[in-house]
Amino acid sequence: MIAFGPVPSRRLGRSLGINNIPPKICTYACVYCQLGRTIKMQAERQSFYEPEEILQDVRGKVEKTREAGESIDYLTFVPDGEPTLDINLGREIELLRPLGIKIAVITNSSLMWREDVREALMKADWVSLKVDAVRGDIWRRIDRPHGTLRLASIQDGMLEFAKAYTGHLATETMLVEGVNDSEEHLGKIADFLARLQPGVAYLAIPTRPPAEKWVRPPQEEAINRAYQILSQGVGQVEYLIGYEGNAFAFTGDVEQDLLSITAVHPMREDAVDEFLARAQPKQWAEADWGVVRRLVAQDRLVEAEYRGHRFYLRRLRGRKDRD
Ligand code: SF4
Repeated sequence: MIAFGPVPSRRLGRSLGINNIPPKICTYACVYCQLGRTIKMQAERQSFYEPEEILQDVRGKVEKTREAGESIDYLTFVPDGEPTLDINLGREIELLRPLGIKIAVITNSSLMWREDVREALMKADWVSLKVDAVRGDIWRRIDRPHGTLRLASIQDGMLEFAKAYTGHLATETMLVEGVNDSEEHLGKIADFLARLQPGVAYLAIPTRPPAEKWVRPPQEEAINRAYQILSQGVGQVEYLIGYEGNAFAFTGDVEQDLLSITAVHPMREDAVDEFLARAQPKQWAEADWGVVRRLVAQDRLVEAEYRGHRFYLRRLRGRKDRD
């Protein structure tokens, strides 16, 4: 099946997925990949399906979804492999256009050095680029790229693309404890993102079983530090932890709202104060620090210090994999 969903996505609303690559053909073999180990490493683009076959499958799914009275916000190329390996990607985007739905591509960026890949991605409305590492040794350790790939040319291609692209550009950085989460390396990622200028930079941590058993998400302190450092390079940084919370929708349930907001980004102590002050006149139950203290005691919120400020974060790592 090529089209799947629609599934709810915090980034893209209701997203209909397009699996344009057979499993799991990729230019990378990321240590944290939730699809398991790469079956076929490949850096050459090729045709996998006829573009018309993709159109037919997606169109069928769109029609069924519409008949059920449901909406779709994005058609998203998010296969079990690297979507830009598909040599027909640009043509497929063109064929899908008449369906009248915005189109997104989530790529690992490895083929951005190629002009034909940049040209294909230019046609999409929303593109997410992976930026796990900006140092060659760290890149090789975390993403384990195909031997013919060169990080410097990939980065040049990304910068060239970002300069010309008029759609919505996002980046995604997966943090793995002890691999790419040092302060020094994160500072370098922030510098690169400052040049790339994405609309939003997402920070992710492994939340599902990774390809390699030793992979761990960093401690909350380190995740908070990463957030603060990346924020120095990019205006908007958000967590992406597979939690599709209702961020910033003040529902009247103080506890739930605090958990939803902190799932997207850490809240500084003064921001929590402000939030509680806004909730109090509305007479929401428990709009005081008591609720925060209880969430900390229950280990659902975590306190972390960074540069003289106290932050509150949602417990992001599973409680059992903490130690
Ligand atoms: S780029 Fe994506 S599909 Fe490929 S190995 Fe990495 S996480 Fe898995």
